[in-house]
Amino acid sequence: MSRNVTILGAGLVGSLLAIILRKRGHDVTLYERRPDMRAAHMSAGKSINLAMSARGWKALDLAGLRAEMEPIAIPMYGRYLHQPDGQTAFQPYSKNNEAIYSVSRGELNKKLMTLAEENGVNIHFEHRCTQVDVPNNALRLAHNGEEHVVTTDLLFGADGAFSALRASYTHMDRVNSSQHYLEYGYKELAILPGANGEWLMEKNALHIWPRGKYMMIALPNTDGTFTCTMFMPFEGEVSFSKLQTEADVHKLFDEQFADAKALMPTLIHDFFANPTSSLITTHIFPWHYKDRSALIGDAAHAIVPFYGQGMNAGFEDCTVLSGLMDRHGDDWATILPAYERLRKPNGDAVASLALTNFVEMRDKVADPRFLQRKKIEKELGTRYPHQFISVYEMVSFSHIPYSTAIQCIQAQDRLLEQVMAEGDFFDNIAHDSFCDRIGHWVADYHKAV
Ligand code: FAD
Repeated sequence: MSRNVTILGAGLVGSLLAIILRKRGHDVTLYERRPDMRAAHMSAGKSINLAMSARGWKALDLAGLRAEMEPIAIPMYGRYLHQPDGQTAFQPYSKNNEAIYSVSRGELNKKLMTLAEENGVNIHFEHRCTQVDVPNNALRLAHNGEEHVVTTDLLFGADGAFSALRASYTHMDRVNSSQHYLEYGYKELAILPGANGEWLMEKNALHIWPRGKYMMIALPNTDGTFTCTMFMPFEGEVSFSKLQTEADVHKLFDEQFADAKALMPTLIHDFFANPTSSLITTHIFPWHYKDRSALIGDAAHAIVPFYGQGMNAGFEDCTVLSGLMDRHGDDWATILPAYERLRKPNGDAVASLALTNFVEMRDKVADPRFLQRKKIEKELGTRYPHQFISVYEMVSFSHIPYSTAIQCIQAQDRLLEQVMAEGDFFDNIAHDSFCDRIGHWVADYHKAV
């Protein structure tokens, strides 16, 4: 039986979900707070580009959008490390030359909206949901200075980290929710192309300038630019609060990011014109109300961006929901609790993974021991392809649940510590007895995961 479905938020996840539901014959209406970004000259908010990995592509397949996105997605095969003295190093992400992909947030969002409309979804822009009467599925919407109320059979809150549906859930009995701001903020900057529009750094990599307590990253765009994101504490010795004058910014970049600075003619303008934005992690339980409404994407699990998984996780929510619809048809009293049971542990897991990866990116990637460990991981993956897969590969290149990946961290640490405690891996590997021992350890790891 087709339902009248309402989705709050025509962002990445809401637009994708609308396509999936519409293709199943439901009447779908989307309410979006912002103007139509296809008509207005505006950005899609947050970061300009995003890293898309296996989970994201799988969900795009459901919408039939892979073929359109692939030509404008730039593969990044590894991290390209920039040291303060100008030295660089490349660390591949996987043993099989797999990549994560830099995609434009705006282009992806626009294509998803257009496809939703082509399939018959109604999108109402500049309609902000101010409140939801959850038991009655009645939404209060603000538009052109007036408020009106609409009711719906089924409601999804895909309205991001500050979701109106999420906020309305928190007023109900036995709803647990929390939010945590990182003491770090971020600011976007730009590396410009060369005279002929060419990329002035390696195009097929995620660039990273790890500096211990802070870092900068850069992802390529199709127009030859790179979007840089500086992550830094708001307060403290080296912090955004200490970068008040042009001289402060010049000094920091001359000392720490000289190679990038040479490619950033608009640095000073960008630094003072672009906002310093905050980073939040949210948790809530439950994620649904009866057979009537549910949270999805950032509305259910806003996370920090350091694993490049926020959108990917939201898209995977859609894949899982779609699979449940395959199995249970229109039985939403079964689908919504099952969706929550399957996804909530993974939302929690990816939130933790993202926080952990921040330390790795800003600090550990520059440590020679860490670099050695990455090389060993790669070699183990090549020698034992069916038994060893690194946690990074699980998260980025597989569909193994995030909750499984996070459980493997300790087992992986133990294995690598055992291997590295034996001395130089690449010398030892020539000896049969060492290989035998490693074989046992890897088999133990495989059992543990
Ligand atoms: P949103 O993108 O927040 O969309 C929500 C939509 O709802 C918006 O259009 C908003 O206008 C609308 N809305 C909000 N409130 C209301 C309301 N009350 N009424 C009506 N409409 C409303 N993820 C990755 O996978 N890879 C990355 O590389 C990556 N990099 C990131 C870098 C940064 C700096 C940041 C901040 C995030 C990054 N993310 C990344 C995370 C990713 O941006 C989010 O996970 C993703 O945008 C979530 O999509 P969403 O549709 O759930 O929410």
